[in-house]
Amino acid sequence: MRVLVTGGAGYIGSHTVLSLLSAGHDVVVADSYANSKPSVVGRLEDLSGRAVPAHAIDLTDAAATDRLFATEQLDAVIHFAALKAVGESVVKPLEYYRNNLDSTFSLAAAMQNHGVTRFVFSSSATVYGEKAPVPYREEYEHLSATSPYGQSKVMIERVLADVAQVTDGWKVALLRYFNPVGAHESGQLGEDPQGVPNNLMPYLAQVAVGRRDHLTVFGDDYPTADGTCERDYIHVMDLAEGHVAALEHLDVMSEPVRPFNLGTGSGTSVLELLRSFERAVGRELPYVVGPRRAGDLPAFWADATRARKELGWAATRTLDEMCADTWRWQSQNPQGFPDA
Ligand code: UDP
Repeated sequence: MRVLVTGGAGYIGSHTVLSLLSAGHDVVVADSYANSKPSVVGRLEDLSGRAVPAHAIDLTDAAATDRLFATEQLDAVIHFAALKAVGESVVKPLEYYRNNLDSTFSLAAAMQNHGVTRFVFSSSATVYGEKAPVPYREEYEHLSATSPYGQSKVMIERVLADVAQVTDGWKVALLRYFNPVGAHESGQLGEDPQGVPNNLMPYLAQVAVGRRDHLTVFGDDYPTADGTCERDYIHVMDLAEGHVAALEHLDVMSEPVRPFNLGTGSGTSVLELLRSFERAVGRELPYVVGPRRAGDLPAFWADATRARKELGWAATRTLDEMCADTWRWQSQNPQGFPDA
């Protein structure tokens, strides 16, 4: 298939481009580079040995998005491009709703206009909200999220379901990610957050490489085994391969729209992740225990059964591999990707 990957220069998008190319698909990247660097595309070409056509485009521009579909012959869309900082979304709700919804509207309209029917959407475990029982299962119906970022995912899932109901041939996979970490095993591709990282793994990686003094563990008085929060960390290459499996499943999917959890099915605490990262680096890393972070849930992980049964996909890479690959990327690229 010839697949449009929006946000293809971003963290999960870029790794998915590589997995798609390895699986024999053709890829067209669309990225605004608002939160990524164009130099990523060169890395993708070097790593794959293939040309990766890339369009600098803001998908909230519906006319420009439609022109892209008129220029490129596309069979499917994998939509990663979005604003994704949970805390920032609380401060700038309009920006988040407008960007994340408008870009999806543009894409859906262009797909309808040009007869493209296959869509894989980058959703999030955050759609399960605060009340869902753990482990999270796709059948859970009362989706809601505490942040505008998360709520934009809830809303887009609903928009896509409504459109798919009335558009002939539409098949939409809603992929609910747990906590993506790790990097491509080459060390040439990884997560490159702008500014101070919000997430645990990139923060830890920057402590290890000397860009930050120490990690602050947000709370050690949770009702968990060691008192720190537990999350379902998943290697970004497993996640990328999950996208390929979902894409290839669309034509035989039982329903027009179907959610799939992409997680490992088990939880890891902040301190367990820290210890694994220390093994990867080969030394102890400085940390202090601070107060809880507002809005953090004590523990959640995926029920990963549906993806295994229906997509024939399961995460296989271990926590130690996630940390070793992150460290290879960060130590070889201490300042992230080059600007040009
Ligand atoms: N965390 C932490 N220190 C940090 C960043 C995160 O202790 O500097 C903890 C956070 O409280 C949560 C876990 O690490 O329990 C994962 O946080 P992250 O922001 O990576 O993902 P989330 O699950 O919140 O989306």
